[in-house]
Amino acid sequence: MGDVTVIGGGLAGSEAAWQLAERGHKVRLVEMRPSRSTPAHRTAEFAELVCSNTFRSDALDHPVGLLKEEMRRLGSLIIAVGERHRIPGGTALTLDREDFSADVTRMLQEHPLVEVVCEEAEGIPEGPAIIATGPLTSAALHDAIVAFSGQGELAYWDAASPIVTQESIDWSRVYFASRYGKGEPDAFANCPMSEEEYKVFWQALRAAETHEREAFEDERYFEACLPVEVLAGRGEDTLRFGPMRPVGLRDPKTGRPPYAVLQLRRENAAGSLWNLVGCQTGLRFREQQRVFRLIPALGGAEFERYGVIHRNTFLKSPAVLLPTLQARLRPDLFFAGQIIGSEGYVEAAAGGLVASLNLSRLLRGEEPLVWPATTAIGGLMRYVSASDPAAFQPMHVAFGLMDPLPDPPRRKERRKVEMAERALRELETFAALHGVMLQPGAARPAHEGREEAR
Ligand SMILES: Cc1cc2nc3c(=O)[nH]c(=O)nc-3n(C[C@H](O)[C@H](O)[C@H](O)COP(=O)(O)OP(=O)(O)OC[C@H]3O[C@@H](n4cnc5c(N)ncnc54)[C@H](O)[C@@H]3O)c2cc1C
Repeated sequence: MGDVTVIGGGLAGSEAAWQLAERGHKVRLVEMRPSRSTPAHRTAEFAELVCSNTFRSDALDHPVGLLKEEMRRLGSLIIAVGERHRIPGGTALTLDREDFSADVTRMLQEHPLVEVVCEEAEGIPEGPAIIATGPLTSAALHDAIVAFSGQGELAYWDAASPIVTQESIDWSRVYFASRYGKGEPDAFANCPMSEEEYKVFWQALRAAETHEREAFEDERYFEACLPVEVLAGRGEDTLRFGPMRPVGLRDPKTGRPPYAVLQLRRENAAGSLWNLVGCQTGLRFREQQRVFRLIPALGGAEFERYGVIHRNTFLKSPAVLLPTLQARLRPDLFFAGQIIGSEGYVEAAAGGLVASLNLSRLLRGEEPLVWPATTAIGGLMRYVSASDPAAFQPMHVAFGLMDPLPDPPRRKERRKVEMAERALRELETFAALHGVMLQPGAARPAHEGREEAR
């Protein structure tokens, strides 16, 4: 069936190695731990959960619940083993992390077609391969990937601004304009603030609580990309002369620029998600809600992604990868996991699943598959392969990444249920069309639960 190499035994690499071996391919799984570790890993096990022990919501009307259900139907190892080691966690799939990783490790070590090689890969392998070395890819391999992709440095800091949903923005308090009328007029939605509103926001931002940084996360990011709370700490007007400057943004209601303005940038073509420009932040998630909701247009904002600043290595994937997760420059080389710019454990494993199913198809002489963007998997893969490369930032799975419903119901809860139902229907149809075997689905309730913090 052909030998393959998988580099990295994290969530994505473990999933990928298992899927390939189960399809009859001889897999060389290269993992550097324990001879060399990363700053975040603590054990020698495969699929180590480096931080929280949750795979987040299990509800079908939550994007990660839907993603898990799609993966379950596609026979994901990570989801199946995760469910075996479920511990009480409310509406989330919460795991006993040690038992989970020990089980994945045992299954891979005992698989007759998996050869585990404990060494640091320092270059890109020849022959069919999947690179899944995660956000803490070692330096030598990082350099080799940079040279291969020709896209300059891989991003070193994941400095992402929050993203809010279109329906949660108070559009009566927003105006469209681009600075000095240059560029597309509807690319930016401007949220004006009066002097009083700005001062309240600034005070709250200055006093808000931030995440503690990991010991290995040094101060270097401050030179490249300043968190909004750090700017706020430099003085009352720093933001007003920085990312929240109003010059050139005349408010049609007053005929003048406002005192300060937060710009929202369209995050996708459908306009269902909006990015808070310049608001990369290390504030705690609940603090982000509290502080950004002080901006009048965002009083009811719902966060599809919170801002984060942490060390992270990821490809400029839209310039490097196809939606099949093949490198544009080399069809037998795939990338998977957090290194492609997805964010989260489940999303990492989903990348491993897509890459391995497609590598197996390629080796059997079949066309690799691009899953429809009506599914959570397809929406996520489209995001990493077709976004604007210049503004690309890692992203959790989200309904806003999927194709919208042609005739969406008014109620948001109903809309999510209908998107999930359509996704599972289309997954079945697409799989049948391409001869992909699916497992029976698990009956999971849809509920109104919000995202569990990770
Ligand atoms: C500090 C931190 C905390 C996070 N916390 C969470 C969280 O709580 N919840 C969540 O959902 N997501 C979290 N994430 C994001 C992400 O989900 C995880 O990083 C996830 O582990 C990514 O899976 P992966 O398979 O892509 O990478 P990993 O799980 O990191 O696996 C990559 C593997 O490749 C190995 N490797 C690296 N370089 C080489 C090399 N050159 N040769 C051989 N092996 C190599 C590593 O040892 C590792 O085992 C966190 C990320 C970081 C950095």
